Amino acid sequence: MSKENDNEIEKPTGSDKQEASDKDKKQGHKQHYCSMCHREEKVTGRQIRIMDSMYICADCLEKGMHIIGDGHAATGQPFNPFTNVTEIFDAPPGAMEQEEESAAEERPPAPKLSEVMKPHEIKHALDEYVIGQEQAKKVVAVATYNHYKRVASDTMKVVDDVEVDKSNILMIGPTGSGKTYLVKTLAKLLDVPLAMTDATSLTEAGYIGDDIESVLSKLLAEADNDLEKAERGIVFIDEIDKIAKKRDAHARDVSGESVQQGLLKLLEGNRVEVPVGATSKNALAPLRSMDTTNILFIVGGAFPGLEEIVKERMQRKTTIGFNAESKSGEETSYLMHATAEDLRKYGMIPEFLGRLPVVVHLHELTEDMLVSIIREPRNAIIKQYQKLFALDDVKLSFEDEALAVICKRAMSKETGARALRSVIEEILLDIMFEVPKDGNIGEVVITADYVAGHGAPVIRMRGAGND
Ligand code: ADP
Repeated sequence: MSKENDNEIEKPTGSDKQEASDKDKKQGHKQHYCSMCHREEKVTGRQIRIMDSMYICADCLEKGMHIIGDGHAATGQPFNPFTNVTEIFDAPPGAMEQEEESAAEERPPAPKLSEVMKPHEIKHALDEYVIGQEQAKKVVAVATYNHYKRVASDTMKVVDDVEVDKSNILMIGPTGSGKTYLVKTLAKLLDVPLAMTDATSLTEAGYIGDDIESVLSKLLAEADNDLEKAERGIVFIDEIDKIAKKRDAHARDVSGESVQQGLLKLLEGNRVEVPVGATSKNALAPLRSMDTTNILFIVGGAFPGLEEIVKERMQRKTTIGFNAESKSGEETSYLMHATAEDLRKYGMIPEFLGRLPVVVHLHELTEDMLVSIIREPRNAIIKQYQKLFALDDVKLSFEDEALAVICKRAMSKETGARALRSVIEEILLDIMFEVPKDGNIGEVVITADYVAGHGAPVIRMRGAGND
């Protein structure tokens, strides 16, 4: 850029930088990293804050201004980008911290110990949404309480020289048993941001797919770019069983073991450079440094085939024999006895398992549980459809036998409670199409015959003394 104006920026010289750095140290000034070149403030000289906790150094700002200036030259208008830049970089060190402090004041403070929900309160609140899975809700409630107690007490890692480890959670349960739903409900109750991802979409940096850090980018976005809030959030990684180590040792394992390795640094609590608004690190995505120490990581998976490993071990180890079927009639009870050794055999690496100290088992849902799920929780599917019909002033109800048939059909799809919504949607489609045509319809009763496909629903008209 030509020196056509007097407002030329003066870059700090080496000795200026040293002086500033010494002064900063004396005044307790925090060192930042430039979001563009990722160099430390002590290397680049003073950096300015451009967003919440994003900083930019004089060099990168100048480069950016050149690019804008070159583009502007085409307009033929005089361009004076540095009117305020020198003022900004010349500002006394304290000025920036004041700005930061006032931003910090606006942020919600970290929860106090007395504000952390107690395990029984968490469990009680979960009961309103999640049917069954009693032990899982209890374990999650205790683990979450311990986690946020640790966050609130600000112990980070040390309490009276005792290290309080993170209570990251591993959830094992069949598809549609409520793993995701449990985590979503938990995040809503605790009012913390939640980022969810599928382990299968994650790859080692440099391969096609999302970088491992992308899940933290999502968390940051969920927290509206509030770094502190994101650093107290929950990350849920589903389908974790899909990144089990491949048994074929010769194949290049891009999405298996290496992803587990990559996840280690997030799970254990570290400072991680996170791309903002992108799924992979590239030259254009600004990076932010995020601390994962207080992020609660929950990973879940169905682990198909794990019960075989457990069964084999249990039958091998005991001469008396362990008959899982005799206890509950379900083969999944073998899963309840899965140990770290079984999971290791399955293909999870020991370091990864070591960072997931809390293991939660979810049962396969029974038909009775599906019936409860369909009508009992606060936002039960039936309640949702009843609300939709009520908006047209129509009362919707289901005969008990109709619900049983719906649940039987959902069970046959072998995707747990996931199938419920699509089955109901299919059954109600014609009714939702026809009812709005006739404003006189006041009530619809879904019968078992109608669900079974050989009968009609009961329709009652308004003002006919039927409602
Ligand atoms: P998973 O993650 O175990 O595969 P999801 O949590 O995605 O299963 O379950 C799918 C849907 O089924 C949820 O959105 C929720 O509506 C319902 N659901 C599953 N399990 C339960 C449960 N135990 N209680 C209430 N609803 C459930």
